[in-house]
Amino acid sequence: MRSHLLNDTTAERYRRSVTEGVERVAAKLATTDRPFTGVTVDALAPRIDAIDLDQPLRDTTAALDELEEVYLRDAIYFHHPRYLAHLNCPVVIPAVLGEAVLSAVNSSLDTWDQSAGGTLIERKLIDWTAARIGLGAAADGVFTSGGTQSNLQALLLAREEAKSEDLARLRVFASEAGHFSVKKSAKLLGLGPDAVVAIPVDHDKRLQTIALAHELERCAEAGLVPMAVVATAGTTDFGSIDPLPEIAGLCERYGAWMHVDAAYGCGLLASLKYRDRIDGIERADSVTVDYHKSFFQPVSSSAVLVRDATTLRHATYHAEYLNPRRMVQERIPNQVDKSLQTTRRFDALKLWMTLRVMGADGIGSLFDEVCDLAAEGWKLLAADPRFEVVVEPSLSTLVFRHIPATVTDPAEIDRANLYARKALFASGDAVVAGTKVAGRHYLKFTLLNPETTTADIAAVLDLIAGHAEQYLGESLDRAS
Ligand SMILES: *Cc1c(COP(=O)(O)O)cnc(C)c1O
Repeated sequence: MRSHLLNDTTAERYRRSVTEGVERVAAKLATTDRPFTGVTVDALAPRIDAIDLDQPLRDTTAALDELEEVYLRDAIYFHHPRYLAHLNCPVVIPAVLGEAVLSAVNSSLDTWDQSAGGTLIERKLIDWTAARIGLGAAADGVFTSGGTQSNLQALLLAREEAKSEDLARLRVFASEAGHFSVKKSAKLLGLGPDAVVAIPVDHDKRLQTIALAHELERCAEAGLVPMAVVATAGTTDFGSIDPLPEIAGLCERYGAWMHVDAAYGCGLLASLKYRDRIDGIERADSVTVDYHKSFFQPVSSSAVLVRDATTLRHATYHAEYLNPRRMVQERIPNQVDKSLQTTRRFDALKLWMTLRVMGADGIGSLFDEVCDLAAEGWKLLAADPRFEVVVEPSLSTLVFRHIPATVTDPAEIDRANLYARKALFASGDAVVAGTKVAGRHYLKFTLLNPETTTADIAAVLDLIAGHAEQYLGESLDRAS
């Protein structure tokens, strides 16, 4: 069994084994003609159930053959141009190469003595990102597992900086289109059930600053503490960007921590055309960025950035065995002092390889392409009487629904759209998402693949209309 350990004597086995896996994936990429096979849970679960984990195959090729059956064949492939559903991007090759290197070397970024150069590379990427945001010379941050953890850490810092004895008096303001991790974080941070105040959005799904000003004033009058305002730079559902400069002004006026959740919109930090859409982000106290959404990085790759490095001390704890206090005096860079995690992946390497091979402009131009594609898609939808589209895109999301020519019952229109999404998924021809707008069911394209064309969008819209009309036709038959 020692021959399976990665070390000096197994270098050749490592090369063969990993190459065999890479060959399988490469073959898959070359031949996948649909984003999904349409496999059902009932069909797949027994195949996985039947495997006895206490009976190893003792052979890499056999294990890969089995993997083909239980995973690779029916996986959802984000690289396919008709995968249009969630905030998943196709990944760039330099980042995948970084992933292969980081998992083989297996550095852990908690302490210098477990990573060395990895620590400095992560730090340099944090500085690079903070500079792109414009956070100033005192900025810092750390890589995280994702936007959820970044938001949690940012709100932890905000809670500590609010310096309130009574957690029940703290209030966090976020738009009603903000991410649910804000509410989860509030719960984890011990805030009261009413802590998160949902601010209404305007027609374009952007936080209404007049309503925010009103709520901040009410908060002050009631003797409550405005702990933080979460501005979303790219809402998950619409890609809408809250008015950052106005929100920054209100945060200054009421002494609230300004957190910008740019999990999605961070791609604009590298944009050649649309960077101005997130102007004002430089005034944030903290920022969430998900490189695994709009920097074409594999999951996970995310970071939280702060304007004032000293605020990260709220996440600092010392353990004699790991990062004793004296190491701070000795200026030994231990990233665990800044992180909610202890053992932590060297995810930064993926972004490093990406920037070293492609450059930031390379990433930014890919994101610009999907933003342009969304603008084209919006025009298609707006001109098509079969569909109704909401919110002209600020990023790369389109929310729309099929409006049948002959049916007016809103519940029936809802059912037709729900059916179309399910039928499309079951066919595997395309994968789209869904959401609700004003209580009604809508469909959603999150466009993150520069390989997707307007012809793909038009074809998928035809498929959706076809499924919806089929449902309505059958529904008429049922009624008569
Ligand atoms: C995706 C998303 C998150 C959560 O990020 P994860 O990486 O999925 O944890 C938070 N906020 C916004 C706006 C998002 O789109």
